[in-house]
Amino acid sequence: MTGSIGQLARKNVRELTPYQSARRLGGNGDVWLNANEYPLAVPFSFTQQTLNRYPECQPAQVIERYAAYCGLNKEQVLVSRGADEGIELLMRAFCEPGQDKVMFCPPTYGMYSVSAETLAIETLTVRSLDDWQLNLPAILSQLDGVKLIYLCSPNNPTGNLVNPDDIRQLLAATAGKALVIADEAYIDFCPDASLVSWLDEFPNLVILRTLSKAFALAGLRCGFTLANREVIDVLLKVIAPYPLSTPVAEIAASALSEQGLAEMRRHVAELNSTREWLLQQLQASPLTEQVYPSHANYLLAKFTDSPRVFRALWDQGIILRDQNKNPGLAGCLRISIGTRQECETLITALNNLTLAEQA
Ligand SMILES: *Cc1c(COP(=O)(O)O)cnc(C)c1O
Repeated sequence: MTGSIGQLARKNVRELTPYQSARRLGGNGDVWLNANEYPLAVPFSFTQQTLNRYPECQPAQVIERYAAYCGLNKEQVLVSRGADEGIELLMRAFCEPGQDKVMFCPPTYGMYSVSAETLAIETLTVRSLDDWQLNLPAILSQLDGVKLIYLCSPNNPTGNLVNPDDIRQLLAATAGKALVIADEAYIDFCPDASLVSWLDEFPNLVILRTLSKAFALAGLRCGFTLANREVIDVLLKVIAPYPLSTPVAEIAASALSEQGLAEMRRHVAELNSTREWLLQQLQASPLTEQVYPSHANYLLAKFTDSPRVFRALWDQGIILRDQNKNPGLAGCLRISIGTRQECETLITALNNLTLAEQA
């Protein structure tokens, strides 16, 4: 037998399909609407000249400013290398492989399963209902052995908010037994829907946040976990000693300054208004069967012939995210809200496709 090094990897890692990030999927284009990024780069400068020193584990200014932004105490905030690291830290800290399970509700964000599979933690999925809301009775009947429940609101890729009454019932049903994690990666686009004010009431609530979306800093890799002190203290035991580099901490602090927050809010207002324009345009297109309302910086649309639309746009350098393989999303494409001009380019391309079809 010729043993290949790949065979030395852990069994669950050999069997793992890595996260299919937009970057990995590639494409050639100039209209990138596939990764829910902010469409324009926000300039930041970096002045610290102390790179000979290790950074703080939890940079004080970043923590203080994010806590102030959310109306929390510093002890309720953990900063990490993106929200993705928060997803995994929770599993590493709270789940015994081979014993505890994590639950999530497809169609939803792909990293919950990738992280669990990497760590050999069993996953339990409960498909959402036709309106993308939780199947609460099915969830409640399968909580045995479940340690973590990941909910995404607004949900990626469907764009809906999860009904808060359902989350409240779930938090009550799991008190003392499991953590309910609300992934609020897109909450800055609809801040009134945040569950942050519930932390006082529910010791088992955890909230994930990021600077990657509304703050236009996907390349920075900076995210937050919000929870009560007991949870944060557990996570601090397993986090890397220096999760954020000095430049990242400095730029994050500046993004969270008063001026940074004001700029983020301007961007959000503009993207939200572009999204409503795009929603109307897509709904009017004969190529779409359904366009789902969204509270985030993307829209999910069901097309009558999505492979053809996806390919035709791809060939013109307009890159969308195919959702065909996501459970329940056959025929669906996810479209990130770009600049108004990028969205107009998309609509023009769709209209030309319609005309070509009719000719
Ligand atoms: C983008 C995204 C994340 C990851 O955010 P990072 O901070 O870039 O790691 C987490 N959850 C959801 C739902 C996302 O869409």
